[in-house]
Amino acid sequence: MDFKEKIAIIPNFPKEGISFKDITPLIGDGKAFQELIDTMAKKLKELKVDYIAGPEARGFIFGVPLAYALGVGFIPIRKPGKLPQETVSITYDLEYGTDTLEIHKNAFKKGDRVALVDDLLATGGTISACAKLIELAGGEVASIDFMIELTELRGRDKLEGYHVESMVQYD
Ligand code: AMP
Repeated sequence: MDFKEKIAIIPNFPKEGISFKDITPLIGDGKAFQELIDTMAKKLKELKVDYIAGPEARGFIFGVPLAYALGVGFIPIRKPGKLPQETVSITYDLEYGTDTLEIHKNAFKKGDRVALVDDLLATGGTISACAKLIELAGGEVASIDFMIELTELRGRDKLEGYHVESMVQYD
């Protein structure tokens, strides 16, 4: 299946100049969503990961069914104040200002292999913060997988040294 056919391009959302990649038609189509998760799971199976981790909210949409398909646990990465147990946190730069993400401190045993999953790679700021969080919590980032990659923004440059995959790419 050509997954691009199921991604809607919304110009100037959420602000002028942004070409928003809307995944709701894809995840709203049962057959397409199932094929996508099965394809991603097949690739990840070979890496023999112990966990899938992903940031809220769209990382959960792809990460949770992938974890289920592989029979491994899902570890949520969340905005501050949402996780109830002791956390490690990281603050990273955005275009304007900063953002913070957290993970449970006891999420992994040292050296656990983790596949990090998110919907879309843009500048790579969010996902490189997530990779560092996993490492701070004792995990090893075995793979970083996206549904969509915006290649022109060169987010991959921020992820040097990691194994990075994306299902569809846009310039
Ligand atoms: P970044 O940290 O720049 O790689 O982007 C982080 C998150 O912002 C992605 O995981 C997406 O959820 C969202 N995002 C950024 N750019 C777009 C876009 N053009 N269309 C849809 N979502 C986007």
